[in-house]
Amino acid sequence: MPAQTIVNTTKEGGCYCGAIRYAVSKPPLVKGQCHCRACQRYAGGAPQFFLLVPPEGFDWTKGSPAEYARPDLPNAVTRYFCPTCGTSLVTRRQDNPAVVVKVGTLDDPSRFTPHVAICHGEALAFHTVPDGIAIFEDLPTG
Ligand SMILES: [Zn+2]
Ligand SMILES: [Zn+2]
Repeated sequence: MPAQTIVNTTKEGGCYCGAIRYAVSKPPLVKGQCHCRACQRYAGGAPQFFLLVPPEGFDWTKGSPAEYARPDLPNAVTRYFCPTCGTSLVTRRQDNPAVVVKVGTLDDPSRFTPHVAICHGEALAFHTVPDGIAIFEDLPTG
């Protein structure tokens, strides 16, 4: 094995009331912001900021989140949230095993910087995108 720099990348987070906790132990594949209407509903009108984490790098460490997927949508994502306080923590897509972690639920979200904006075609006039990051009008595939 080639020599590597070992860095402790584990990040922890949880919901507003503390009943649900998780750990992220792998570096994110994507760091982004999503402007879609569903994210706006969950985020008070703002885009949602997220880490896309490989599935082996995500673990629930306390409590059991509730799940919801819209039955009327053919490719509905599954949303994981605290059944007590309602905080939206994680989303998983049917076509991608990676875990979408909501940045605001990290214990320390202060070092996050997005490098991609997705679903920007649904952005509202008051949304902002940092200079120089990639913008996709839709959900990029692959
Ligand atoms: Zn909670
Ligand atoms: Zn979205």
